[in-house]
Amino acid sequence: MIVIDRQQIDRAIECGELVPHFQPLVSLRTGELQGFELLARWRHPERGWIPPEEFIPAAEKDGWIGALTRALLQQSFCAFCCIQTDSILSVNISAVQLHDLTLPEQIHAIAAKCGLPVQRLTIEITESALANDLEQARKTVAALKEMGCKLALDDFGTGYSSLSQLQSLPFDELKVDRSFVGSMIERRDSRKIVAAVVGLGQSLGLCTAAEGVETHEQAAMLRWLGCELGQGWLYGQPVPVGKLDEVVAEIKRKVAAGPPPVVEGLLSHTTLDRLPAQRLAQLQAVYDGAPVGLGFLDRDLRYMAVNRQLANMNGRTMAEHLGRTVQEVIPEMFSKVEPFIRSALRGEAVSGVEMLKPSPDGGEDRNVLLSYEPARDEAGEVVGVAVALVDLTLMKAAQEALRQSEEHFRFMLELLPHIPWIVDPEGRALAVSRRWLDIAGTNGEQWKGFGWLDSLHPDDVEPTKVAMQQAFQTAKPIDLTYRVRSSAEAPWRRFRARGAPRIGPDGKIVCWYGCLDDVKEEPQS
Ligand code: C2E
Ligand code: CA
Ligand code: CA
Repeated sequence: MIVIDRQQIDRAIECGELVPHFQPLVSLRTGELQGFELLARWRHPERGWIPPEEFIPAAEKDGWIGALTRALLQQSFCAFCCIQTDSILSVNISAVQLHDLTLPEQIHAIAAKCGLPVQRLTIEITESALANDLEQARKTVAALKEMGCKLALDDFGTGYSSLSQLQSLPFDELKVDRSFVGSMIERRDSRKIVAAVVGLGQSLGLCTAAEGVETHEQAAMLRWLGCELGQGWLYGQPVPVGKLDEVVAEIKRKVAAGPPPVVEGLLSHTTLDRLPAQRLAQLQAVYDGAPVGLGFLDRDLRYMAVNRQLANMNGRTMAEHLGRTVQEVIPEMFSKVEPFIRSALRGEAVSGVEMLKPSPDGGEDRNVLLSYEPARDEAGEVVGVAVALVDLTLMKAAQEALRQSEEHFRFMLELLPHIPWIVDPEGRALAVSRRWLDIAGTNGEQWKGFGWLDSLHPDDVEPTKVAMQQAFQTAKPIDLTYRVRSSAEAPWRRFRARGAPRIGPDGKIVCWYGCLDDVKEEPQS
């Protein structure tokens, strides 16, 4: 800390050496401007720019922070009103200043003089302990809120800002300290702290803002965690008043240019852009309503969640699953499923594995389709496995029954002395008994479509076509005869073709069903 005496600061204020700077705060999701934070800078005639970290602690300690703040607010409020935005202005107020009961009045007076509505102000409470004389601080804060200002707790997570402070005053916003944001990509502990702070803010209904956002990767991770606002070099450095319009225009340009880039490896591309609490509610609804068995396993293969379907399939209650390992819950299946779960834990999704699952109650074995999907956290680390299980038994049984009935039907038809056939409404053959192939001497697919007409006696082709056309137009039953032979050497045999239309729900003919009989075999009438 540098040594600064009161005269020095008085001169600095008088000569306009204190230069307010403004840094934008944007919506992490849309990139839109939300407001600016006012940051103090001192342009010292001999020593150049002095950062606030060098003079604010002295100002707090030596009791001239109030004078400094007033000078800063006077300059910045008027200037801020002139820029083309109705965004919020966040101002830093040291906790020690909350012991000054006249602070709300002072802020109100300066804002009124400059024409800045106090509703556009957020008061960021920074540094030092609030502990001494909390009652007085509460009164000041209550008056500020009464006026319409919002209240933010700055540097949350550092030694200065604590949970007890959060509880002691009616904050609206929580600012995650830049030290955590800066290292959240490399350091798991920082990431978890940021996740916890954002989660805490959300559970308390507070807006969360992350400071020190420098990269797209950090922004993507914060977005995924559900953090609302971002502040940092990625969106803009602190600038003096003269450059404010430029910053506003630049942010608008970026918003118009489209959404932020997708960061590979992070979950930023997911469509789940809601708050974690909503995400949970969505997931719960999916869980409960899904017609499949769903569950979630942690890295130790313990069930963290199951839906009713999965519980039923495993023959245990939902409660009997939670906290227990797969081995404990379904020992009979464990050796079969373990390799797939381990693959998923290594990050490889396993889908569509068919398996016979012994019935838990000694009943019939079930045919199941299993899928294991790795579940990843905000950094892409696998934290567990989502299990999905579809019971195929009913479907398999239905398929098998259908196959068998088709087989019976076909077998029966082949045994009949008749030769069944099906043609479409224009006379194209759709299906014919295999016996036709022997009689007509065709093989393969030659009978299909209008191909069957080729097997007829040349003199019978035209009359057959005419008779069929008539039937098609009137929907009256087909009844005609024609000659067919199995080879050039074989004699012609006469067949009687009879058929009836099947009419669809729209009154149109769907197809014709019929059969051929050997005329000679028919009893003479
Ligand atoms: P703060 O309130 O946490 O302000 C944010 C600090 O982060 C600012 O430092 C800002 O320049 C810096 N910063 C912004 N974006 C980035 C980034 O992307 N990366 C990094 N590494 N840093 C970034 P600054 O202006 O030096 O202010 C330091 C602290 O001084 C402030 O921290 C605040 O606690 C205090 N301060 C500044 N102005 C005032 C004031 O007018 N009154 C009071 N009471 N305190 C002030
Ligand atoms: Ca601040
Ligand atoms: Ca801060």
